[in-house]
Amino acid sequence: MKIPETGMDRDTLLARLDEYRQGDMPWRNGRVWGYVFHPGDEIEAVIKQAYSMFLSENALDPTVFKSAARFENEVVSMAANHLSGDGEVVGNFTSGGTESIILAVKTARDHARAHRPEITRPKLLLPVTGHAAFHKAGHYLGVEVVTTPVDSATFKADVSAMAAAIDENTILLVGSAVSYAHCVVDPIADIAALAKERGLLCHVDACMGGFMLPYFRRLGCDIPDFDFSVPGVTSMSMDLHKYAFAAKGASVILHRNADLRRHQIYTCARWSGYTVVNATVQSSKSVGPMAACWAVMNHIGDQGYLDIARSLLDGTRRLVAGIDAIDGLQVLATPEMNLLAFTSDAVNVFHIIDEMKELGWYIQPQLGYGDSRANIHLSVNPNNLPHIDEFLADLARCTESARSLQSSEAITNLKQMLAAMGDAPALPTGQVQKLMAAAGIQDGKLPERMADINELLDALPPAVQEALVSEFINQLFRQPGA
Ligand SMILES: *Cc1c(COP(=O)(O)O)cnc(C)c1O
Repeated sequence: MKIPETGMDRDTLLARLDEYRQGDMPWRNGRVWGYVFHPGDEIEAVIKQAYSMFLSENALDPTVFKSAARFENEVVSMAANHLSGDGEVVGNFTSGGTESIILAVKTARDHARAHRPEITRPKLLLPVTGHAAFHKAGHYLGVEVVTTPVDSATFKADVSAMAAAIDENTILLVGSAVSYAHCVVDPIADIAALAKERGLLCHVDACMGGFMLPYFRRLGCDIPDFDFSVPGVTSMSMDLHKYAFAAKGASVILHRNADLRRHQIYTCARWSGYTVVNATVQSSKSVGPMAACWAVMNHIGDQGYLDIARSLLDGTRRLVAGIDAIDGLQVLATPEMNLLAFTSDAVNVFHIIDEMKELGWYIQPQLGYGDSRANIHLSVNPNNLPHIDEFLADLARCTESARSLQSSEAITNLKQMLAAMGDAPALPTGQVQKLMAAAGIQDGKLPERMADINELLDALPPAVQEALVSEFINQLFRQPGA
């Protein structure tokens, strides 16, 4: 493909853009349980307007674009107050949970370099239910991630196992509030007390839960302490592009005080251009996401968020009760917010997902890991709420129809082949490509029904799963020819 010889006019262009959208999941219909956090059309219009007003301003230099520093400081201040921060808590606006977590891990690494220089191979401890972003951060930053077990019924971190895993190279303990997969709050008070006692930093990943948990507590839910009210918590991440409903590209990283945050900041005066001083990973960046985030928080307001939380809580309770009442299905753990996971010991959940897809529902597969068997994840959003009864009725029907569906012969054979291979840590690329072809993946395209592929992935050791999805992405991003 080449840049077109002459530019397209606006109308043609807009029509083309619309055409490109046709293949996207139609999330506006309320039948998609994830990906998009949508507060309603009226609020969305306000977000869009704020975003586009500041689209072109550059937050690279907040002394030139003073609005950037103002939006950022005010959003961070609202976030810190929301999480029981005192006047000492400082933070920054980032592009998302992953960036916030990378910065938390960088801060811990550089804090250790300054205060414990004898450590050359730093480690962080992460309950197995902790988000993959910590593995990614460790991978990028040269910090080893040591995973620790969780309770097999509650899916909450086992703090005594964390205590036992601490060694002379440990720099950081992590807990989640809530965990993405099962929506539970780790015993943060115990993790933070352990960190404090051993002179370690403690990060609370409140990317998913930080914003809504305080509202759920105000509505009477028994939410364990998880924020800066807990002694020993040294940093927190909270995404605003999830349940604060900001446009994507909105999260915060918060630190107990500015002394700790110093280790987050990167500076460079060793080149011939402008002196670089970045508090976050990105350098040039639009003020749009900050302005839109500031706008949505001020537009919805505390009472508005409380009202949203009330309806999400009510909807989640109806879902949990409704799913548990379906023969063959069980909700995993006890969700402490408005996300949930359910599984089945009688029916292949991947077939349930395919059956639901035929009826226009998108629900997310979660592969088995540790004590968590393969299951289905729902993130509940305001636009799902009017569809709960219909969803439950369809789910009951699809669970029945999935009962009689069998794994394909190819998958059964592949699984036998894999079982015979044992725990091969990695496969040569040629083998991976063969495996993909056998599973029905060709040229970066996936089949309509995904049960076979999910079942195959679920049976593979993590290293082979990773090789397979990496190869898939390497195929997907093949650019159109000349
Ligand atoms: C979503 C999420 C993240 C990662 O956030 P991104 O915005 O997708 O980068 C990290 N932790 C938890 C618990 C999450 O739910």
